[in-house]
Amino acid sequence: MVIFEFTTKYIMKNIILLLFLGAAVTVVFACTNTTGQVEQTQKPVKALSPTDTSLKPVSRTEQDWKNILTENQYYILREEGTERAFLNAYHNNKKDGTYYCAGCGLPLFSSTTKFDSGTGWPSFYAPINKTRVKENMDAAYGMIRTEVECARCGGHLGHVFDDGPRPTGLRYCMNSGAMIFQEK
Ligand SMILES: [Zn+2]
Repeated sequence: MVIFEFTTKYIMKNIILLLFLGAAVTVVFACTNTTGQVEQTQKPVKALSPTDTSLKPVSRTEQDWKNILTENQYYILREEGTERAFLNAYHNNKKDGTYYCAGCGLPLFSSTTKFDSGTGWPSFYAPINKTRVKENMDAAYGMIRTEVECARCGGHLGHVFDDGPRPTGLRYCMNSGAMIFQEK
């Protein structure tokens, strides 16, 4: 009798444990399904038209940026990296056209303001429009410089210096990898 009671209690205890485990597993699966559904209903990243000049901020998670940018674009635009002088796509590009932000497609610079600075980076004396870029003070590496970023997505583009040619006297020293050139 004692043995029977013990066995019954043991079985009951285990049934309760099994039920509890079952409920826990159900909850875990439910969560997985919910997460899966949320992911499916999320809007795909919208590709912006190159002619879209709206300055409505473009904000993406770092993972989204990693997914849409190349490693070099991510390094420059999101990690404020600097590509090597002369070993970049546009420093010597003399074709007529427009330079767009590689992160969001905003038209930033025109070939009409590009000049040969001899620095090994594409250089312009002005952006297409002052509103297309944002300037921030940059005190990294023991230098006070003015950082230039895309006004729409906040991607790092390069720096601006006051030793440029006329008519502005400015030199926008850009990273080729932060931009995409489209010939006219
Ligand atoms: Zn941008």
